[in-house]
Amino acid sequence: MSDKKTSINDARRSKTFEKNPIKGTKFTIAVSSAKGGVGKSTFATNLALALKNLNLKIGLLDADIYGPSLPKLFSINHKPESKEGFLIPIIKYEIQCMSMGFLTDKETPMIWRGPMVTSAIKTFTQKVKWEELDFIIVDMPPGTGDTQLTFAQEIKVDGAIIVSTPQELALQDVKRGIAMFDKLNINIIGLVDNMSYFSGDDGKKYKIFGDGGVERTSKEFKKNFLGEIPINPDVGKFGDLGKPIVESMPDHEISKIYSKFAAQIKLIYF
Ligand code: ADP
Repeated sequence: MSDKKTSINDARRSKTFEKNPIKGTKFTIAVSSAKGGVGKSTFATNLALALKNLNLKIGLLDADIYGPSLPKLFSINHKPESKEGFLIPIIKYEIQCMSMGFLTDKETPMIWRGPMVTSAIKTFTQKVKWEELDFIIVDMPPGTGDTQLTFAQEIKVDGAIIVSTPQELALQDVKRGIAMFDKLNINIIGLVDNMSYFSGDDGKKYKIFGDGGVERTSKEFKKNFLGEIPINPDVGKFGDLGKPIVESMPDHEISKIYSKFAAQIKLIYF
């Protein structure tokens, strides 16, 4: 814990150095979660697609070194090409994609991945030929670890979105996530409550994981609450098929929620 604190202080001190945006991009948005399994990657991919649908040029960087999901969620099974020392993003659904999963073998043991974090982030931010992006959406690993810190030290992060489910246990970690971004001086765009309820056939909303916890946490820490996404089996179904719901069914009620998130974010930056 104290190590983490020291590192965060180091990162704050390093703020005195000018930080650059990722080359070829206007704005970098980090999608973060305090815990694994709350739907962060699902959110990052669908948000990227919803922003693309607003005629913005979007890149998606899956920086989750320990559990990259983009290859599966976008059904990409090949490695990126390189040209003149730069990696060329793989374009899928009109989005420029790069993932740790394209660069490591599934068999690479976790213990070897830790030391790779810094060099991997440098590669992603300096050695990928991103082309004229309005936004790059970065799918961060869960928690408050090395990747977040390295990112904040290496590049200008314009905003962070924290995704959570409404359980008390998840909310405890959300508070830690808020503290981390505040200390790193990264603007928190807002919090999202994912899997917040299930709509039954009887038309009732069932709050399976608790009620309004993410919104309460947002208020408590004076952060924006961006909104709720209900539990819907179609989300998982289309993710598993490698074509997320916003791309597969743009008129689905879930896709419309993503359109609203995208519109909010576009409005902040453009
Ligand atoms: P994380 O990136 O936080 O580890 P994922 O995006 O991999 O989480 O999501 C975990 C699982 O939850 C996946 O199977 C995904 O399809 C599912 N999921 C995410 N959001 C929803 C939702 N709103 N409704 C139903 N399932 C969801």
